[in-house]
Amino acid sequence: MSVRSPIFYLDGPLASQARFLLEDFRLATNGAIRAGLQTGVSSRNALNKLAYKDSRKEYPGLYSQHIVSAFEVAAGILKNHRRRLKMGRAVRPPYVKRLMMKAENQAYKFDRKEGVVDLPVRAGLHVKLKLVVSQYHRRYLDDDAYSLGSLTLLPDKVVIAFRKTPPKPFVPKSVLSLDTNERSLDGVFLREDSAVAVRAEFPDVAIFQQRHHDRRKKLQKKKANDRRTARALCKREGQREHNRVEYRLHQVANTVLSFAKGHESAIVLEDLTGIRYKKGKDLNRRLSMWPRRELHRIIEYKAEDKGIPIIKVDPSYSSRRCPICGRTQHSRMGTEFKCECGWHLDRHINASINLLQTASSKGLAGGLRFDPGAFRHDAMMILYEPAMAARSEPNGMSGELEVVVP
Ligand SMILES: [Zn+2]
Repeated sequence: MSVRSPIFYLDGPLASQARFLLEDFRLATNGAIRAGLQTGVSSRNALNKLAYKDSRKEYPGLYSQHIVSAFEVAAGILKNHRRRLKMGRAVRPPYVKRLMMKAENQAYKFDRKEGVVDLPVRAGLHVKLKLVVSQYHRRYLDDDAYSLGSLTLLPDKVVIAFRKTPPKPFVPKSVLSLDTNERSLDGVFLREDSAVAVRAEFPDVAIFQQRHHDRRKKLQKKKANDRRTARALCKREGQREHNRVEYRLHQVANTVLSFAKGHESAIVLEDLTGIRYKKGKDLNRRLSMWPRRELHRIIEYKAEDKGIPIIKVDPSYSSRRCPICGRTQHSRMGTEFKCECGWHLDRHINASINLLQTASSKGLAGGLRFDPGAFRHDAMMILYEPAMAARSEPNGMSGELEVVVP
């Protein structure tokens, strides 16, 4: 089941009844958190048994489903709190500060045509929330394959979960194996009879991050005696940088996926979950890992929607191993991988071939194997580069590609 959660802004200010509802929900949640902390209970059911009757008395105006939902939110917060305690972090007793409420799909009605949420407050009293609906939202509202999940109400917006059973992944006719790097995806596109190097470049992502990092440092120095302002400015800076990076990553993902769809390719990616850096010292490296993970996240969920098979493989030694003779090198210096056996190739492309080999040795690549004899050393297909965004139409990502001969 795939879940998407688009954000809808409210069309107009929040009705006062809805605000009271939010405040009651927060009180009920914090009450349940307190009860949970006092008794050492943190599951939703246990909280229900423990505090439902009291809450019912305390908030007679609150629809009973909302109380149950408040317990669920409280249970989630308690669980997080416990985990932090276990990890030995210094933590204050949790409580909910901001106004929010959650309603499961049986606890609200949604007119998908009009974009109006009908939320019960208590018996006989409902509040209607008119949402701002854009073209983007219509994709979810008009598609009957999406069923409604939970709803989260905040003072100015609503987040609605839409659920859909994704299509079954197709049987691949080709494989696109990609090694994920700081400034590019580098890989090999493998078909029955040919293999060619491919690249999708996003050099500006690292630049956005660096620029943000520098500005942040400068701001902190300048506003050293006013930490609140510094924090506010940094937050705004961070949001901007985040949006820019996200926008670029979505473009890269869309191009790669429309290519894969057009050629019925499975996509091989390295599994990044195991890669961790030590605290503090390697902060910069950890920061530079974020866009890579984010790119994978975007590619994976979009691929699921399009039925494109994704194969994740363990990247151990992928940048140091020779795919031809199997020798493993001690260091990974230089932009070119050179082996004693005579094989040499761009280091990143070489890594993607190793990922591909790992996938096919496990039988995951649809029987396709990399054949060095069929590899075209003279060409590199550019799947994406930032200038392409300026050139192409907004929906012109049809998997077109150019072959560059170095
Ligand atoms: Zn070799």
